[in-house]
Amino acid sequence: MLTQEQQLLVSDKDTLSKDGHYDDLAKLSFLTEDILLEQLKQRYEKDLIYTYLGDILVAVNPFHETSLYTTKIRDLYRYSTDIHKPPHVYALVDLVYRNVCHGIYNQQCCVISGESGSGKTESTKLFLKQLMYLCGGSSQLEQQILQATPLLESFGNAQTVMNNNSSRFGKYIALKFVNGKVIGAQISDYLLEKSRVVTQSPGERNFHIFCYLFDYLPSEVKNMLCLHTKYDYRYLLTSSSTDLQHTGAGNSLDEVVNAMGLLNFTDKEQHSMFRILSGILTIGNLEFSTDDEGFTRQNFDEEKTKNNLVIIANMFGVNSDLIMECLTTITTLTRNERVTRKFSLQSSQDARDALSKHLYARLFSWLIGKINETLNNPYPSQEFYQIAEIGLLDIYGFEHFELNSFEQLCINLANEQIQYFFNQHIFRMEMTEYESEGIVAETLSFTDNHSLLELFMAKPLGILSLLDDESRLPKATDQTFVEKLNYHFGTNKHECYSINRNNKYSFTVHHYAGKVSYCALGFLEKNRDTLSDSVVDMLKNSQDDLIRLLFHGNPSDGTIHLNNRLQHRTAAEKDARNRLTVGAQYRNSLQVLMDRMCASHPVFMRCLKPNQQKQAHLFDATFVRAQLRYCGMLETTRIRKEGYSVRLTFEEFIRKYGFLSRLRSSDSPLNTCRHILEETKLSEWQLGKTKVFLKYYHPEQLEKLMNKYR
Ligand code: ADP
Ligand code: MG
Repeated sequence: MLTQEQQLLVSDKDTLSKDGHYDDLAKLSFLTEDILLEQLKQRYEKDLIYTYLGDILVAVNPFHETSLYTTKIRDLYRYSTDIHKPPHVYALVDLVYRNVCHGIYNQQCCVISGESGSGKTESTKLFLKQLMYLCGGSSQLEQQILQATPLLESFGNAQTVMNNNSSRFGKYIALKFVNGKVIGAQISDYLLEKSRVVTQSPGERNFHIFCYLFDYLPSEVKNMLCLHTKYDYRYLLTSSSTDLQHTGAGNSLDEVVNAMGLLNFTDKEQHSMFRILSGILTIGNLEFSTDDEGFTRQNFDEEKTKNNLVIIANMFGVNSDLIMECLTTITTLTRNERVTRKFSLQSSQDARDALSKHLYARLFSWLIGKINETLNNPYPSQEFYQIAEIGLLDIYGFEHFELNSFEQLCINLANEQIQYFFNQHIFRMEMTEYESEGIVAETLSFTDNHSLLELFMAKPLGILSLLDDESRLPKATDQTFVEKLNYHFGTNKHECYSINRNNKYSFTVHHYAGKVSYCALGFLEKNRDTLSDSVVDMLKNSQDDLIRLLFHGNPSDGTIHLNNRLQHRTAAEKDARNRLTVGAQYRNSLQVLMDRMCASHPVFMRCLKPNQQKQAHLFDATFVRAQLRYCGMLETTRIRKEGYSVRLTFEEFIRKYGFLSRLRSSDSPLNTCRHILEETKLSEWQLGKTKVFLKYYHPEQLEKLMNKYR
């Protein structure tokens, strides 16, 4: 029996391997869903988790440690001029890195998609680590780039039913290169699921960092932070499961603290962060009671609550009476008159939770801003260098639970966008470009999700716009929002929408990955995402430098600097941004992401989840079939085979393959390309008006020819 490593080394991309399965399923002359599934299964059972579908890499999550990432294998995919290699995430890294070094593409991106728990984040990490390895792997910057991951995961990941280390935010890491060396990186984040700070669904947990405090902090530090045990905090116990045993998912606090050190977080900043986390946990334990009229009482007699207030005041650097005032009353200024109203119990609880969510979300943004500040080294006199960029996209996967809320709506919308991008790239752009370049090709058919995106994004009649309208109306409720949706899209008015007659808060969207019913309760508030002025004022004037900074107050002694993000935003911009709803901000950030990706040459990786139990050695064919189907795998394969997936401008082609021809002519670029191609004796290529059109297997053949010359 061969080891995995040996199997990798002997398997041959061109031929049916000895084991009777293919490395590249697009090469099968006859491909059906059943065959695709069977091949993936056979490979998976041998721990051959990677498979090519043309130039798309498919990975099936093994859910156990494999020997696929040893140094030997890493070296196998290092600077290889022979791309005749078995499928591997390292092969993708090698490809994009060579493109950078040879100046083929200046903008590339790697799009990793798949449902929650399918292995996107792990693949991103493997990708990033290998990429840094190829660049040299030892510089301080490379180390810092790698260390950003455990830090972000500890604050942005949590255990969910789908995945023990589920990313609760999306990220795009843009790496910048000059002469094959990494010179900087920039991380963009997308909508952290901050509601998790105050509540979690059954079987799920709060963000890892909260658990780390209890699992790893020395007791004297815990005492200083006034922390008890993790079973004492409501925010950690909101789900029905009270099992907070460490699952081993994610990292340890040591790694996090170590990463913070490497990324230039000062001790003072780290200390402030821990105090904020402790304050958030404690504020979650604040219980309110009501007076005879049903309003929240401002005076607490209960000892426990008094103690908690003192702790919170201490952690947040604010006055304890002020906290109470902010959480139990609202003061408005009308015609120069101050009017103070008392809160109901519900309003007080909402104000308390809003404070926690906002504080955590701002801490997270600051963290990313601070990391970017460190990773974004300005390169000396940039104009003399050609800077190349590789972007890595890792977002939360498609989610479909029993109860789906605003967060799932946003997450699934992002996945629709990615699917759209994928379709655009593979199908539509293919056809458009053939046309404009005068290439003869058969018309390709595909499943389009454009109409679904319209349902969400259209202005003024789209789900997000209607939600914004309702969020602005004082009398509107979650129910009136659903009524509006039903009115505009229901009863067959939109093919991707249906009414739920038995629940007035619910509506159903037909996503590319299946129908999802959303429960609109809380949508308006989540979209408005308001924090009262009095709370903001209180935190703006905190004694703690970091808190003050998070709420745009003035730093006192300058030890904590405004990060880039905040610095470059003027007060006016800040206000404009603050007024935007969550939905509108999210839509904008997705748009920026899409523009960026559209300007890049993409490579695609599709992650598949073999079963829903997160188990090793279990291939649930029905479950995998569903994933293959909804992401249009078969269609993709067909298109890749039929189409011309590789296009280079004449200049790019000549620069890369020019020396394959001995002919030195002063002919037009078109004719030069024709000479080169004719000399290679390859077939099935086409020449357009400005570009060479190649089949996906051509670069490999050209590379082989190049090796003969080298
Ligand atoms: P996603 O980001 O798609 O939600 P993750 O990348 O977090 O999923 O993967 C979920 C879990 O699956 C990981 O915590 C890990 O246990 C396992 N896993 C994923 N990819 C691999 C891999 N290549 N090798 C071994 N285990 C993996
Ligand atoms: Mg993830």
